Amino acid sequence: MELHSPQHILEYNLDLGKTKPDTVHRDEKYCPFCDVSHLKNILDTQGHMIWLENAYPVLKDSWQTLIIETNDCNGEFSNYTAAYATKLIRFGLEKWQQVKDMQKFKSVVFYRNHGYMSGGTIHHPHSQIVGFEKYDYHEDIHPYHLMGTPILTEPGIEINLSSQPIIGFYEVNLILSDYDKLPQFVHYMQITSEYFRHSFISFNDSYNIFFYDFPDDTNLYVKIVPRFLTNPLYVGYMISQTANKGHTERFMNSLKKKLLQKHCHLF
Ligand SMILES: [Zn+2]
Repeated sequence: MELHSPQHILEYNLDLGKTKPDTVHRDEKYCPFCDVSHLKNILDTQGHMIWLENAYPVLKDSWQTLIIETNDCNGEFSNYTAAYATKLIRFGLEKWQQVKDMQKFKSVVFYRNHGYMSGGTIHHPHSQIVGFEKYDYHEDIHPYHLMGTPILTEPGIEINLSSQPIIGFYEVNLILSDYDKLPQFVHYMQITSEYFRHSFISFNDSYNIFFYDFPDDTNLYVKIVPRFLTNPLYVGYMISQTANKGHTERFMNSLKKKLLQKHCHLF
């Protein structure tokens, strides 16, 4: 029998998790991220952006930090002004790099959740930066997971639809190869997020943004994924799925239209 590398398992402390505040799924009024004066273990701030250690470190062998993005509890990434969104992503990228530079972790992930189905428990907009002591995500996630059919390409930026998605169906990848184009790149991230929130599936505005880098590659990779119930073929058999050609084409054309439309309005 062929031996496969052991599956990576990350232990989550459910006993601690149970005590976490949840303003997404429960009707809790108190928001810990609005209560700035009681925040502990703050690592850095920039205006209303706060980088701090997660008060509920539920993941084993990990260093969990988060960035509170704004003082607006109902703020949302796709609605920030272009200038604020760029400032925020710059701040996040800087902190992500800082954790990588600590050389204490096998890999560091940077991602954000939005909505009921995205896995987040605090409604107040925030991103996560987590260092894994024993796990390198590059063992499982490869550059081909970020490759696909181009939706839009311009100097320094590529936006594509995953042809080999991690789970499926629609995973939009944004690749930045020229950091001078970051503001435009962030703008496309906002449009894609907004598209998933309002134009993709009715009554479901959940999505995730994931950031990746790969060794010996200076590009920044971002994956934006709408979230709904995970398909059972993936849950049971790890089968990733893509949509049929007709649907895929309609999806790509309509997202492309949005990307170009907004482009004209704001730039
Ligand atoms: Zn809040």
